[in-house]
Amino acid sequence: MNHGILLLLTDHARDPVLNAFALPGGFIAVHSGLLLAAQSESELASVLAHEIGHVAQRHIARMIGQQKQNSMIQLASIVLGALAGVSRVGGDAAMATMMGGTGLAIQRQLNFSRDAEREADRVGLQILRDGGFDTSGMVAFFGRLQSASRGFGDAVPPYLLTHPLTTERIADIQARIRDQRYKQRADNPDFQLIRARVRLLQNNTSQGIRDAQAYFESQLRQNTKMQIMVSKYGLAYAAYLQRSYDKAEGLLQEARAASQPMVPSILFTNLDIDIKLAKKQGAQALKEADAARKQFPLSRVVAHQYADALIEGQRNDVAVAYLRDQAQLYRHEVAVQDLLAKAYAAQGKQALQHMALAESYVLQGSLPAALEQLGIARKAPDATFYDQAMIDARERDLKEQWKDEMKETKGRG
Ligand SMILES: [Zn+2]
Repeated sequence: MNHGILLLLTDHARDPVLNAFALPGGFIAVHSGLLLAAQSESELASVLAHEIGHVAQRHIARMIGQQKQNSMIQLASIVLGALAGVSRVGGDAAMATMMGGTGLAIQRQLNFSRDAEREADRVGLQILRDGGFDTSGMVAFFGRLQSASRGFGDAVPPYLLTHPLTTERIADIQARIRDQRYKQRADNPDFQLIRARVRLLQNNTSQGIRDAQAYFESQLRQNTKMQIMVSKYGLAYAAYLQRSYDKAEGLLQEARAASQPMVPSILFTNLDIDIKLAKKQGAQALKEADAARKQFPLSRVVAHQYADALIEGQRNDVAVAYLRDQAQLYRHEVAVQDLLAKAYAAQGKQALQHMALAESYVLQGSLPAALEQLGIARKAPDATFYDQAMIDARERDLKEQWKDEMKETKGRG
């Protein structure tokens, strides 16, 4: 039995709708809208803790026992498929909307009983406290949502539809934390930097970026060190998205200056490398990415940037060796396979490029596209006898998998 909890929070979960929900299989989906509405880590953690409460108490599993199991599993696979699709097309708004719609469809099926909600609140508070967060964050956030909900009219966020913030519920939570000592908790500055980034990613149309810029400018007027750092970072990222790379560099310098004497954030480093890569300053990007991967050995973003910088700097042999290593260590990362394909393409190795793309599609759950890539790889003029044998074996595997998947789908109907 797998009790792991996987948090689906990527650049691609951009949906301005305020929502979070637990899914079958221990997944918890968080919309970017929630991240922006939460004003502290404790507030965000309180919603997550509540959803983890549903998972920990096996509310979904118990519901599945009562409902048709097949329809639930099918729903879960649709959601995961949609997420994979969104991450593939990146900024495609239509796909993102579809995902939002699918999430809503799932959530309607996952309407928990009032008892289950109360239990999730109780367990969630315990989780929140054990995690070292400020438990009053739950009351503060829910209280603010409650007063805001009066202004929503017909556009009540889905989270509030499934989690009505009745006075009774808030009083219940308040009673639970009454005996606890107030726990002051300083947020990691990265939390606010991530929110600035999400604000831009959520709507990266030119109008969306201008709106975010206006917001950051207004925040600057608060004139606290933290606000200056976060707003300058937001403005730097906005300039980067607008391809004003020199301006982005200058603003990032100002954000960094305002962050002293705090520990330098990895988000500054990430943006710095992205700017260098965009400016085609391969050598400089490589130097910084190499230093960053030593400073932040666990960061996956830095690992990807390092590989990208190697390719940009035309160190393709090193890039391929590094990425093949990474592919062994991180077998489920689509980005590693995509970068490997890019490195092979830079080397002019067509068969290997399409074999890597096939693996990328497999990881995204798209077997037909993977088989198509294998077909292209087989016909590549540089496909060696050895490559052909690998392609044949992989193709047999995938066709077998595909057949099983089709059987399962039919069995469900
Ligand atoms: Zn709930």
